[in-house]
Amino acid sequence: MRNYTLPELPYDYGALEPHYKALLLELHHEKHHAAYVNGANTTMEKLAQARDREDFAAINQLQKNLAFHLSGHVLHSLFWRNMSPHDGGEPDGDLAAAVTEFFGSFAGMKCQLAEAALGVQGSGWGTLAWERLGKQLVVEQVYDHQGNIGNGTVPLLVLDMWEHAYYLQYHYVKGDWVKAFWKIVNWEDVAERFRSVRSLDLVL
Ligand code: MN
Repeated sequence: MRNYTLPELPYDYGALEPHYKALLLELHHEKHHAAYVNGANTTMEKLAQARDREDFAAINQLQKNLAFHLSGHVLHSLFWRNMSPHDGGEPDGDLAAAVTEFFGSFAGMKCQLAEAALGVQGSGWGTLAWERLGKQLVVEQVYDHQGNIGNGTVPLLVLDMWEHAYYLQYHYVKGDWVKAFWKIVNWEDVAERFRSVRSLDLVL
């Protein structure tokens, strides 16, 4: 069994201010993200114990917990890399061309992603993802960390819409959080991810 670990942030806790407050970033990373890492590890240990004891009475809950915590760990790890103190703006190159091809325009994609994120009922995420079967970019609205997504899609850009992601700074005005997010998106990071996943075929 391999243990998951909390990744270091590629910048200081204060680096995304004023768009994302240092205390909010610190709590989000050190408490919330860490809880998913611990949850994934604990669940993997319990699954190993279940195999050892041949006792699968709790299998449904364990598999549900694994999906939740592991997806939470993946999405947060991606989320930190998707942001940068020096970015914002718009993508260029191949990513910009693909956004235009699949959404009509950058504004169209941005609007769909913002609305999907703002429309989340309960906790979840808005994501820009690469769909490997049709080989196209799609926006997805993720429930919790793991629901309502197509199998075979790979997230490239993720926007955390859990209350823990914005409430300390933006309170109930989640539209302001989404507006702030666009100012700190690291499009170079998204473009690199796009370059590496677009050649991955989904073999059926
Ligand atoms: Mn979060």
